[in-house]
Amino acid sequence: RAKNDGRNLYRFFEPGMDAVVQARRALEVDLEAALPRQEFDLDFQPIMNIASGEIIGAEALMRWHSPARGRVAPDDFIPVAEETGLIVPLGEWALRKACAVAASWPPGLRIAVNVSAVQLKSSGFARSVISALAFSGVPAGQLELEITETVLMDESKAVLKTLRQLRELGIRIALDDFGTGYSSLGYLRRFPVDKIKIDRSFIRDMGNRDSAAIVRTIIGLGAELGIVVTAEGVETERQLDMLRDNGCVEAQGYLIGVPSKPAEIQRLLKSRATRSQTG
Ligand code: C2E
Ligand code: MG
Ligand code: MG
Ligand code: MG
Repeated sequence: RAKNDGRNLYRFFEPGMDAVVQARRALEVDLEAALPRQEFDLDFQPIMNIASGEIIGAEALMRWHSPARGRVAPDDFIPVAEETGLIVPLGEWALRKACAVAASWPPGLRIAVNVSAVQLKSSGFARSVISALAFSGVPAGQLELEITETVLMDESKAVLKTLRQLRELGIRIALDDFGTGYSSLGYLRRFPVDKIKIDRSFIRDMGNRDSAAIVRTIIGLGAELGIVVTAEGVETERQLDMLRDNGCVEAQGYLIGVPSKPAEIQRLLKSRATRSQTG
């Protein structure tokens, strides 16, 4: 009912909106078909321990190569998948795929997977995580789930219960895009979190005094709370130096490595592992 009313309203007030609604519907249709057609892929971006310079793992990032649309950015299709509910099977695919890839990495390396609010709230999420680990043979201690603050916004008891359950298994929880939400500090107090990832907008603007102060404060906060802090979007040596000087634990960004195909990231991880074993 609301949808039809909406359409009529659009048509009445703003003729252009009809095209917008149709384009959006077409995107939903393409997205729906893309999973069975195997149009999705994962890239992996390395994460470095700043003090040692070692690569400690990688984050899985979803890619959609649509035959009709070309490459579609996650920021353009993930929100649509969330609204239609497709993110639940799509996210489960990503989790299983990421674990399958990480199973062939040298032992001890971390695999980070992004999880949407919709997934976390869906029943059976914890079960699907456990199943992905069991199927791949990746130990729970090597899996990190990245959630954004919006996940926690409604503070549902069910979400809290799921997070606790996952953590009891040894899975780490990272708060992604930290500092961009409405109540970043409040979430840290209420939710069990192992890591915070400083949003790349703060790293990008670190030349600016206020942003630099914010980055230093988040790093200090992490140290006080015993939470690992990762800087996202590190692109320059200067940024990395500033982060190192301020005691930031981990860094991720184009300077350390761009998101790459599984074979490429595996080569990188293996060469690092071999080097550290042989001194
Ligand atoms: P995110 O989880 O915060 O991922 C980091 C984003 O920053 C990625 O964009 C990555 O390619 C980009 N990035 C990394 N280093 C740099 C850098 O040095 N400079 C700049 N400018 N960008 C950098 P991407 O791959 O486009 O993903 C965007 C967002 O889409 C992700 O942000 C995440 O929120 C979401 N996403 C990606 N894959 C998945 C997934 O499998 N599931 C869910 N639910 N969300 C995903
Ligand atoms: Mg992430
Ligand atoms: Mg992020
Ligand atoms: Mg993000």
